[in-house]
Amino acid sequence: MEPLNDYPVPALHRFKRLPDGFIDAPVERLGAILPGPALIRIEGEPGPPLFVSILLHGNETTGFDAMQRLLAGYDAPHRLLPRPMLLFVGNVAAAVQGLRKLDGQADYNRIWHDERYPEHRLAREVLAEVAKAAPLAAIDLHNNTGKNPHYGCVNRLDDATLSLARRFSRTIVWFTEPHEVISIALSRICPSVTLECGVSGNAAGTSHVENYLLHCLELSAEALLTPPPNYLNDLFHTTARIIVPEGRRVEFGACLDSADICLRDDLETLNFERVPEGAELGRYRDDVSPLVVIDNEERDVTDRYLSFSDQRILTKLPVVPSMFTRDVRVIMQDCLGYIMEPYEVKRDSRD
Ligand SMILES: [Zn+2]
Repeated sequence: MEPLNDYPVPALHRFKRLPDGFIDAPVERLGAILPGPALIRIEGEPGPPLFVSILLHGNETTGFDAMQRLLAGYDAPHRLLPRPMLLFVGNVAAAVQGLRKLDGQADYNRIWHDERYPEHRLAREVLAEVAKAAPLAAIDLHNNTGKNPHYGCVNRLDDATLSLARRFSRTIVWFTEPHEVISIALSRICPSVTLECGVSGNAAGTSHVENYLLHCLELSAEALLTPPPNYLNDLFHTTARIIVPEGRRVEFGACLDSADICLRDDLETLNFERVPEGAELGRYRDDVSPLVVIDNEERDVTDRYLSFSDQRILTKLPVVPSMFTRDVRVIMQDCLGYIMEPYEVKRDSRD
């Protein structure tokens, strides 16, 4: 298959220490410190490192902000961290421009499986370095655009992984699709989580992440990876995602006549809520099929979850949505949101 286009793919830049200026650089000037995607070793007391990735999506800056504060607090690299860190800074070019990704680039959190795009080579190099470093745990930091609680995502259901997620939030989401994300690739190397840290730029979110990372550096490995009691209260399993077919015009609330799909104004408030059967998500013009639901096996399961009648989009059974967003660019680049089910771990089904 052809690459997306001939956008020049930056090589992986390896740093043996934290570059000067990293801690103070505003994200829009990060390009002056890091010429592109960078893997940075930061020295610590002897032991396996903590792997952290930030800015895989360039406009999701909470991880970057929290990392700057964390490292400044430790006076890195002048003093040792409690354990070494391997820090991957992903899409620097997009971050400088405040975008998830640049037009024509592959999505940096969809390049960790397969060999289609030039960016896959970058991903392969990073994974080889991480495997060599044998980290204690791996943490990938993200924001979302919609109204969501802070939550941890896991791709496996072993105690160490769930513990790593539970230390961030009682709300935990288990997903296996999209399978091209970094956390799934890393889960083959060490316990691995994706943390969804609310919206970018929120001060409380930054503090939460900074504190979490501090614990990850300071707790013993055993304490970090042993689950606290009652840690499975809010575990959900992502079963499907909702897509807007290409070329459809989406609006919210009081929509213009030009809108093909008119979604309810408060759609984001449904995230992580139990939405009953028959709930109206929005309206659509009667000559187009408004939304498509795809399950984890890439099957079209729209009929199972949604019904379309009288130009209304209705839920067909009770669902728990997540990541519903009003950001139309994100909706068209990624998806409208995900459908989840509450999930109970059976002791004998853990891997
Ligand atoms: Zn993201």
